Amino acid sequence: MDHVYEKNDPTKNEVHATTSEDPVSRNIVIKISKQILSPDGTMRQTKIENAKTIFHECIHAYLFVKAGNSNVGVDFVSTLNEMYPTPLAQHDFMYNNMIPTMQKVLGEIRDLVTKTPRRTILEGYTMHPTINPLTNAPFNWADFYKFISYSGLDEASCFKEYVLKDSNLLSLFNQYVTAGKIELDR
Ligand SMILES: [Zn+2]
Repeated sequence: MDHVYEKNDPTKNEVHATTSEDPVSRNIVIKISKQILSPDGTMRQTKIENAKTIFHECIHAYLFVKAGNSNVGVDFVSTLNEMYPTPLAQHDFMYNNMIPTMQKVLGEIRDLVTKTPRRTILEGYTMHPTINPLTNAPFNWADFYKFISYSGLDEASCFKEYVLKDSNLLSLFNQYVTAGKIELDR
């Protein structure tokens, strides 16, 4: 798609991607915006961020399918239907349950979507886990995967509760996301 909009509604904000379930056919449709994929896109992302976005949408699709498929573990289905019926609720699920899996997958594909010289530069970064007082820590890939996975979950109530209210954590999140955008894919 050239452009993708929140809730697939062109009057709403432009977004990176959406996953939705057709209420009648129950077909799941994933839309990825060209604006994140192409080098001159207005919302251009690094390759590893695009991999994260695709994985993120696949988790939505999986949760929609699980929630709509009554022959898979009845308890699990009713729990999903009650708790994760919308993309927003699914974001809370991802924040609470999927970050370790996203870290693992991104670690496995890292060398396919990044180059050694760029990784070496990123690994030389000093990050600041706290700002006041200022503390230093070396760049850490597990944290990088975690924080880029948080991108797109910013509307999730868990993210608001734990990250937005913690200025040090919010700063570290921004440091990691920015460092990756600056150094990778050059
Ligand atoms: Zn999402």
